[in-house]
Amino acid sequence: MRRVYFDNNATTPIDPRVIEVMAQTMRTVFGNPSSIHAVGREARRVVEEARESIAKLLGATDREITFTSCGTESNNLAVFGLARAARPERRAIVTSPIEHACVRSPIERLAREGFEVRTMPVTSSGIVDIDAAKKLLAKDVAFSTLIWAQNETGAVQPVAAWAELCREHDVPLHVDAVQAAGKLPIDMSANVIASLSISAHKFFGPKGAAALFLRAETPWRPTIIGGGQERERRAGTENTVAISGFGKAAQLAAEERDSRRQKTVELERRLLELLHDAWPEALLNTRDAQRVPGTLSLRFPGAHGESMLMNLDLAGIAVSLGSACSSGAVEASHVLRAMGLSLEENYASLRVSIASTNTMAEIEFFANTLRALRSKRMRA
Ligand code: PLP
Repeated sequence: MRRVYFDNNATTPIDPRVIEVMAQTMRTVFGNPSSIHAVGREARRVVEEARESIAKLLGATDREITFTSCGTESNNLAVFGLARAARPERRAIVTSPIEHACVRSPIERLAREGFEVRTMPVTSSGIVDIDAAKKLLAKDVAFSTLIWAQNETGAVQPVAAWAELCREHDVPLHVDAVQAAGKLPIDMSANVIASLSISAHKFFGPKGAAALFLRAETPWRPTIIGGGQERERRAGTENTVAISGFGKAAQLAAEERDSRRQKTVELERRLLELLHDAWPEALLNTRDAQRVPGTLSLRFPGAHGESMLMNLDLAGIAVSLGSACSSGAVEASHVLRAMGLSLEENYASLRVSIASTNTMAEIEFFANTLRALRSKRMRA
């Protein structure tokens, strides 16, 4: 059966060139990067080379990059670390209502422990309104968080401008760039963001490798302590194999970002053209927002996203719900709700995430399948 994958925001296929590097590392480098002898030093070299390419991708320095196991871990370490380092009089957190669950949940825990949570307003296009949010910043704020590219809608948030506003109040800003890295230009030397998360498997790298960028002056405390690895920021023996793949994926992302972007934009444009004809009532949930290329939150008024997803799956096409699916239960998306969508609109939405590995033929197959689904619905 033909399989078409439009769920690249969940994870991407690993680039064969990344697999090659990982296989080579697995075959030849087994040492512990912390060991002093030659076998250990060889593993250290692999880890440090990868760190260099990740730093380069982010416009950062090697010392600002800490390896972790996934984006979830990076975000948890950032949020808990910033909270732990905050002065006692700073007990408020300013966050957006469109953060990923791995930022939201740690903040919810901190709220239960006594932090006050202040939520930034969001426009109907899914962009935080930083002008209106300014008033939430004050001397009692410990830190703020803002996602860079929203994972359900692709909406790109004004992170650099928000970081400046935060700095005026001496508030460190953590940015979840898991869906931005490899897709948007990131230059940490040109902004005042305090910490930032990225994850390899979102840009053709392996699962099991991610990073936390931390500026030297960011007030932050480690959560995972033990052997002192990663300059005492995240203890635990480094996953050398996955890290070597992460490094290669970062190098390729830096080299190929523009061509990948162009291809993704062309695929997306074609899909929107064909959709106009295949399902004329369909619309983008983020009408006026600047989006990261490839991420489409689409609404099919009157239809049910979950049954569409299943029908598409039967046809061999993988997409995901606009709503989050956790432990088998389909819940309304907190992101679409924050944008003001009704429950019905929420459940009529699907997320389609295209990558440069997709083809025009797949886009056409998708549009034709949607057309057939719509005709079936009209007849029913
Ligand atoms: N942040 C965003 C915006 C994401 O989209 C994801 C994954 O979907 C994560 C964080 C978590 O990353 P990981 O899957 O590497 O834990």
